[in-house]
Amino acid sequence: MQQILSDRILTLSESETLAMSKKSRALAVQGINVINLSIGQPDFFTPDYIKEAAKTAIDNNFSSYSPVAGFADLREAICLKIKRDNNLEIKPSQVVVSTGAKQSLTNAIMALVNPGDEVIIPSPYWVSYKEMIKIAEGKGVFIETTIESRFKITPEQLEAAITPKTKLFLFSSPSNPTGTIYSKEELRALADVFARHKGIYIISDEIYELINFTGKHESIAQFEDIRDRVIIINGMSKGFAMTGWRLGYMVASELIAGACEKLQGQITSGTCSITQKASVPGLLADPTKSEDLKKMNAAFLRRRDLLYKLLSDVPGFKTYVPDGAFYLFPDVSGLFGKSYNGFTITSAATLCDYIIDTIYVALVAGEGFGNPNCVRFSYATSEEELVEAVKRIKELLAKFN
Ligand code: PMP
Ligand code: GLU
Repeated sequence: MQQILSDRILTLSESETLAMSKKSRALAVQGINVINLSIGQPDFFTPDYIKEAAKTAIDNNFSSYSPVAGFADLREAICLKIKRDNNLEIKPSQVVVSTGAKQSLTNAIMALVNPGDEVIIPSPYWVSYKEMIKIAEGKGVFIETTIESRFKITPEQLEAAITPKTKLFLFSSPSNPTGTIYSKEELRALADVFARHKGIYIISDEIYELINFTGKHESIAQFEDIRDRVIIINGMSKGFAMTGWRLGYMVASELIAGACEKLQGQITSGTCSITQKASVPGLLADPTKSEDLKKMNAAFLRRRDLLYKLLSDVPGFKTYVPDGAFYLFPDVSGLFGKSYNGFTITSAATLCDYIIDTIYVALVAGEGFGNPNCVRFSYATSEEELVEAVKRIKELLAKFN
């Protein structure tokens, strides 16, 4: 029989975060009281000054195609942001604005990876990295980490993973799904390895830059000896509560930025003109003075502490205190083998399926993030919901032997 769909699509997995979120929405539509801790998005509103800028852009008829890489004023604003927050001098020709960081990541990977090229990714990783590499026909090489090492890789592990085929290193700090943040010293130690391997490019996904409980954001791009090989990925989704507006951007060498502009010009063109205009004042505002951000981060910090405390009290959960983003990724392997009512927990995935089907709490299983012992909680939701979710989980698990 003729195969209709391409091999590319048939081997691609559905995004686990989006699949769980879809399931959760479908249950909610049936009137079920679902607690959705699966999707990672701030439950805050976009700041008013950004909404006003969007309304002004509509009234001023910004309704045409923008330049593929983004309006000039937006790219200028990104250069100013990168100077102010990251202390890097860059030119607008090094910036490409896209329809979300997701597209920026895909652009960069497609621009750099040839079939068979190896891409080193610390595990756990965000679900889409692995699939983006697959689309580019690259080969993911995963460096395992554990809760004990706070899910961080060492320079020795990095060195050992490098082969003559290594093209790219891809990571996020603050991390999705663990909330781990690499310190300046830890980044310098990784940069030392890259300084010795000059053919390797580094994608630094900094989408959670503004959600950091440890102090100042540190980027691996700050190290001059490797800077021209670092591609910074960032966007408006997380720090400005703008997930639906769809704006991400990359900062790279002119060569790589130009390649991504060419690719994007054949696929999507520039992102939404209104979103671009609205993002300019957001990027120009100093985050250290933003009341919106302070309020949001104070809430995330309270929820992190609350969720940590609640989960520490659930038998079988091994937990830790994350440094940033809004995720907690506890190890639940202590529950494997336990049974109730004819059902046995054999993996994080079976546990998450059972939890959503019986007590209507949506989590994401660690398998999609490269760690089958863990489950991901997004705590970007109210404290009441977190308390209720963990109460349901604890009561359910108490029935298992
Ligand atoms: N990188 C990471 C680590 C993420 O968690 C996400 C999910 N929002 C993205 C990139 C993509 O973000 P967006 O496309 O909404 O800008
Ligand atoms: N990045 C978020 C998450 O991990 C949003 C969903 C997605 O795009 O994966 O939940």
